[in-house]
Amino acid sequence: MRSEVFDELVDFLVEKMPLDSINLFRPHKSAQKRFDTLSGAIKSGSGTPDQHRALELDIQLEHLMQLAKARRALKERDNPRLSRHEYELAAHFTPQVEQKTRQSRCEYCLLHVDNAYYAHYVDYVIAQKHGGAKGSENLALSCAECNVRKGTDLSSLTPSGRLITLFNPRLQRWGAHFRVEGGTIEPLTRIGEVTTRLLDFNNARRVEIRRTLAQLKLYPGR
Ligand SMILES: [Zn+2]
Repeated sequence: MRSEVFDELVDFLVEKMPLDSINLFRPHKSAQKRFDTLSGAIKSGSGTPDQHRALELDIQLEHLMQLAKARRALKERDNPRLSRHEYELAAHFTPQVEQKTRQSRCEYCLLHVDNAYYAHYVDYVIAQKHGGAKGSENLALSCAECNVRKGTDLSSLTPSGRLITLFNPRLQRWGAHFRVEGGTIEPLTRIGEVTTRLLDFNNARRVEIRRTLAQLKLYPGR
């Protein structure tokens, strides 16, 4: 999607959509299912070039909705039309996402489920094909984008060619490997570096979304 089209669509949604409607807006079940199938194929390494293109479009849609929701909330905060109570309800409305874990943020990029469009996934940190355990000690919550970008990888190469394992939220502390600076996730270690790169944390749109959410105190934590 060209960036002018992207920006126009975000502006349109921010201008025209009521806050509660945009926050409630989620993919239809069939669209979520299609995305699940698509990301499953890509994660398994069997994705066709067409599927890869379709996935990148879906990720742009994810960014578009995340940014529109965050900007819409910011607009309401700065030019309130709703009462404080209505604003709180609408801006923090938790959609009907069934959470099977106590976590509500992506354990990789810290995006909250409420601020996403496609559902977050509870998935294996170490894929089954690499002998990962089947229990909760090997499960983590991740946003749609981190989940698909991580795939079934366990490690990645540094620019100098060293193989480094990816961040493991079950074994490692997020704050030991990353910190947030102005919407950017800054790696503090080699593990942080390879994870940041592989999961594309600092894509310009993701940084902009985080910066907007931070103004609303919705990122990195509540
Ligand atoms: Zn994430």
